[in-house]
Amino acid sequence: MAKKVIVIGAGLAGLSAAITLESEGASVTVLESSDRPGGRVTSDVIDGFICDRGFQLINANYPEIKRLGTIKEIEFISASSIIEVARNEDRIRIGDPRSAFFSVFNSQTGSIFEKIRLLRYLLKSKPGSSVGEELKNNGLGRTYERVLRPFLTGVFLADPLLVSSEYGRTAIKHFVKGNSGLPVGGVRKFSEAMAAHVNDIRYGVQVNSIKKNTVSTSKGKFEADAIIVATDVTTAAQLLDLTEVPQLVGCTTWYHSTKESPTKSKSLIVDSQNRGPLVNTMVISNMMPDYAPIGRTLISSTSILPTTESEVRRHLAILYGTNTRSWKLVAKYDIPSALPLAGLDQPLVSGAHVRDSIFIAGDYKSAPSQNGALLSGRLAALSALVH
Ligand SMILES: Cc1cc2nc3c(=O)[nH]c(=O)nc-3n(C[C@H](O)[C@H](O)[C@H](O)COP(=O)(O)OP(=O)(O)OC[C@H]3O[C@@H](n4cnc5c(N)ncnc54)[C@H](O)[C@@H]3O)c2cc1C
Repeated sequence: MAKKVIVIGAGLAGLSAAITLESEGASVTVLESSDRPGGRVTSDVIDGFICDRGFQLINANYPEIKRLGTIKEIEFISASSIIEVARNEDRIRIGDPRSAFFSVFNSQTGSIFEKIRLLRYLLKSKPGSSVGEELKNNGLGRTYERVLRPFLTGVFLADPLLVSSEYGRTAIKHFVKGNSGLPVGGVRKFSEAMAAHVNDIRYGVQVNSIKKNTVSTSKGKFEADAIIVATDVTTAAQLLDLTEVPQLVGCTTWYHSTKESPTKSKSLIVDSQNRGPLVNTMVISNMMPDYAPIGRTLISSTSILPTTESEVRRHLAILYGTNTRSWKLVAKYDIPSALPLAGLDQPLVSGAHVRDSIFIAGDYKSAPSQNGALLSGRLAALSALVH
């Protein structure tokens, strides 16, 4: 008889677990407390604007995403391979490493020697230190301060001095080899495409406790041969009495609209001079026209420290070189637990088996990324199958 497995949570980890289990012939029920799949990878439509719940790009070249083949099922638009570094009144356009590795740093942001040192950094591995320290120690001082620190702070949602060099190197390599972009219709289309491959997902079912092979929920009890807990780490810790929980980092994504786009650029803008609370901003409707109704523009911006809307507007005025007083605030998403911090002594992958027939998956079990979440789900499913 087919093994019966309950997966708790329909985020990327839970969906990946369910798809793996079903492909191996298991009978799977996914229990999800919210009204939709995707967890942190979802979007809302507000007054005709598509707002992703936190700015994030999908990397189509992540190994786990390639393995699933989901990108072929959605309308995917690749992001610009340029980032813009705001410095004084200037915008320094930097070809990202995918298309023009050695154009990454022009003379205002670093020298040719720094470029070569970046390559050496990518090739070397020294566990125990931070990605920020290592980049600096590899002689990337000016390039680090002016470009890499502001850019990577937006990627890790934390100071790169707090992020393990091992994870940092992996993330930079994924970025160098990556193809980041967004689905038409918002990031939720990616999650919905994955969910379409799962037979039985029950939405609005909140899991309250787990005992051996029984799951108690807001909609009654469920029994299974194995249970995979693929919730966020805080809920998993409560359900399973876990004591070791990684530090979480948060962010706020701000969506503003205006009639005229302040720039034609489709690129991510970072501030090399730290003149306000934003770690990055982008006129997202320049890249994704369907994100804003006709005749309107949508600007997505991210901050990681507590701040006010007026501070955000002041920073946006500097970064776009325009008055932002008439811009309308469309939405603000506070995401206090956006990512687990890949701290200095954090192992990159840890075991999925907890006890009895209970397994665990989530980005905090692997790497704090879409790829990490998907990988952790697949590994938990394989462990459950052979247990
Ligand atoms: C703002 C932001 C930007 C990001 N940027 C990037 C990026 O650019 N690149 C990248 O690779 N990654 C990025 N990430 C990270 C990536 O989105 C996450 O690592 C990944 O989506 C985590 O998936 P998960 O399945 O582990 O967890 P989650 O998405 O948190 O899924 C957990 C699911 O469990 C459900 N659940 C919780 N409790 C219960 C319960 N009691 N009963 C039933 N269901 C429950 C939740 O509703 C949720 O659906 C970003 C994340 C954020 C928030």
